[in-house]
Amino acid sequence: MTDQSSPFTGFPVSPVYDGMTSTAVRDLLDVLSVPGVISFAGGAPAAESFEIDDVRECFDWVFANRGAKALQYSSTPGEPELREQAAHRVSRTLPTTADQIQITTGSQEAIYLVGHAMLRPGDVVLVERPTYLAAVQAFASSGARLIGIPSDDDGAQPEALEELIREHDPRFVYLIPTFQNPSGVSMPAQRRREIAEVLLRTGAPLVEDDPYGELRFEGETAPQIAALPGMARQTLLLNSMSKIMSPGIRVGWIRGEGPIMNTLSIAKEAMGLHSSVVDQLAVARYLEHYDVDAHVAEVAALYRGRRDAMAAALPSILPEGATLTRPEGGMFLWATLGNGIDTTALLPMAVQEGVAFVPGASFFAHDPDRTTMRLSYVTNPPEVIDEGVERLGRALRRWRG
Ligand code: PMP
Repeated sequence: MTDQSSPFTGFPVSPVYDGMTSTAVRDLLDVLSVPGVISFAGGAPAAESFEIDDVRECFDWVFANRGAKALQYSSTPGEPELREQAAHRVSRTLPTTADQIQITTGSQEAIYLVGHAMLRPGDVVLVERPTYLAAVQAFASSGARLIGIPSDDDGAQPEALEELIREHDPRFVYLIPTFQNPSGVSMPAQRRREIAEVLLRTGAPLVEDDPYGELRFEGETAPQIAALPGMARQTLLLNSMSKIMSPGIRVGWIRGEGPIMNTLSIAKEAMGLHSSVVDQLAVARYLEHYDVDAHVAEVAALYRGRRDAMAAALPSILPEGATLTRPEGGMFLWATLGNGIDTTALLPMAVQEGVAFVPGASFFAHDPDRTTMRLSYVTNPPEVIDEGVERLGRALRRWRG
């Protein structure tokens, strides 16, 4: 029963969330749940690649051997075993000690945390064009102004980056150099060196988000920007277990140096004290006792076949002049349709035909190219991909009238 005489009129909402009733991510999840729709929309790893038995053994082991510890409160930076394992894994490309690791609840929390810990309202963050939409959302929630760095087929352009840094004095630069979400583009080594030179010359801090780097199925490995000479102290490197073990477990970490690590830990303490100890210990066990590289190689082989299927099927249904990226790893392909095709308006038609994608507009911090779309090739087997692409072709034919 509501008390009609009470002056209570509802909970107040901060300006960040006032009037916001949904987000691009939620709208996507709604589309995903429409029965019968083949989804190229979500960023969900192929469920058949999950090592369910191995992961179950890890959790069993935790309860059998570390039960009391696993169920107790713990410290904010993370479980020593997991920080050790994370440092070990990062050290394969960049020498790292356990005290340079802050464990997070997935790298999404890391993105939120770095924004929350560093940004003041009105600060500028430079991001790629296009960039990861949930990073835009996270940084914007700290009141930041996001500015896109012009890019080409090799990623963000160094000259443009330098100009924007000099003009806007950004708080930091956020890049996903390897198998970018949404574009699938990977920066070649030379471009990374040029970007690092600009960052070193200007002193601009880098947040390097690298959840897909291990999922390479062809081409030359390029170093993380954090691993280039001089860059380690100027970079916060974000890694995640989501794409190499499980996104449901929600474990990631930030690798960094200096006083910022303590600030991040203090910020995380206020947010949630620490990430789940049970999950951290199970992931530490997984990293220590299982052949994660062999698993990642299997996942990459699976994704390669699916990338091939989608890359082969798409050109025949796309309009003249459309372009496609050809990712050498990761999960996404990016199509620029041109021809005035607004993919946000196309999506409802596509869903009626039984296929979904993510319209590109939400991946741009400003001035979106509305003719773009992100297609995930990892969730469906090749024959379903073929059927989905056919449906997309039907939607495009309807669009053209
Ligand atoms: N960064 C990027 C670029 C991503 O694509 C994603 C997942 N879609 C994340 C961060 C967040 O991943 P998680 O929180 O599962 O580690």
